[in-house]
Amino acid sequence: MTNLAEKLKILTDAAKYDVSCSSSGSNRKNNINGLGNTSVSGICHSWSDDGRCISLLKILMTNNCIYDCDYCINRFTNDIKREIFSVDEIVNLTINFYKRNYIEGLFLSSGIYKSPDYTMELLISIAKKLREIEKFNGYIHMKAIPGSSKELIHELGKYIDRVSVNIELPSEKSLKLYAPQKKYSNILKPMNIIKDKIIEIADDKKFFRNTPNFINAGQTTQMIIGAGKETDYEIIKKSENLYNSLNMKRVYYSAFVPVSSSKLLATIKEPPLRREHRIYQADFLLRFYNYKSYEILNDNNPNFDMNLDPKANWALNNFHLFPIEINKASYYELLRIPGLGPTSAKRIVSYRNLSNLTYDNLKKIGVVLKRAKYFITVNGEYRGLKNENNTRVREMLSISDRSNIQQLSYLS
Ligand code: SF4
Repeated sequence: MTNLAEKLKILTDAAKYDVSCSSSGSNRKNNINGLGNTSVSGICHSWSDDGRCISLLKILMTNNCIYDCDYCINRFTNDIKREIFSVDEIVNLTINFYKRNYIEGLFLSSGIYKSPDYTMELLISIAKKLREIEKFNGYIHMKAIPGSSKELIHELGKYIDRVSVNIELPSEKSLKLYAPQKKYSNILKPMNIIKDKIIEIADDKKFFRNTPNFINAGQTTQMIIGAGKETDYEIIKKSENLYNSLNMKRVYYSAFVPVSSSKLLATIKEPPLRREHRIYQADFLLRFYNYKSYEILNDNNPNFDMNLDPKANWALNNFHLFPIEINKASYYELLRIPGLGPTSAKRIVSYRNLSNLTYDNLKKIGVVLKRAKYFITVNGEYRGLKNENNTRVREMLSISDRSNIQQLSYLS
């Protein structure tokens, strides 16, 4: 019989491919009868050796799975050691680690054990015991298992802060090829059930103070990059749709990591980490910069330039819109300037309420002009390249982008 430490090693390692974890979004304080809170930083984070953010107690309940997804190390035809935690083992680990200050929450995923409903019932037992018996008040993020019933999803949602249903592959075509036992409708259905219930509970809370909580920190999902044949444009369109139609809090992206004995994906040797990075950049443009997917890429130009970030690429393709006068641009126009983020744009807008900005003022309020200088004037003065044209600026920005990328430890 495997001892607990060995089980922990196997099921922690098996969980590292799931990147849809983050403790943001939940803000519950401890109470007098409780243990823990979510308001400090939720789950403790660490960095895996390939650079992904992982929590200290990020585990699978089991790596047993009845499915055979070609991209997954836990698929049933893969010859690996299988383990399963009991409900009490996970509850005790969480409480003991929490009390020792090792963790601030639990991120629990699982293979599909026996059936989707059976797996969900075990996950619910863990969440319920933590909350009701142990009075654990820390952050809990769990998977909802595609194919499980609406009632079980509603039940799980009563105890946890965040849930994810992983979409894994960006199109139905890829899902059929690499995960033939899964159905796209079975993945979208729980996402819709969760979205509808979150809206219903939010409405009830306006009228009834004692409305029980339901997944306060919302839902997230994960997409694997580079397993299917989808273009970058198809991927970001899918994410845009998930944000708009399902109120998704985050879409996480995971460069496909080649796993042993994959049948259909054996030719892929390296995870496409740089591509993953570009997709994350585009995701930020969708969520925080007011871009639409069709502005970032399109059918004629469906993949990212690996030498240039998507925002700079958009600006160079629309070079006729620049330079923008810093003292007149709206907040959203400022956000379109390469090198300026929401923090700098907000500072500019608020400083302009007091006085006209100069280049010196911009420096003083912390605006970095290394990239922005090619795209702005300040009181009519331009400090970019003389006789500027977008080819020359593209070269300059590509050089600066390469040095930024080299600083990212997870990119080779
Ligand atoms: S259902 Fe999940 S755990 Fe099971 S093989 Fe597919 S991806 Fe892996």
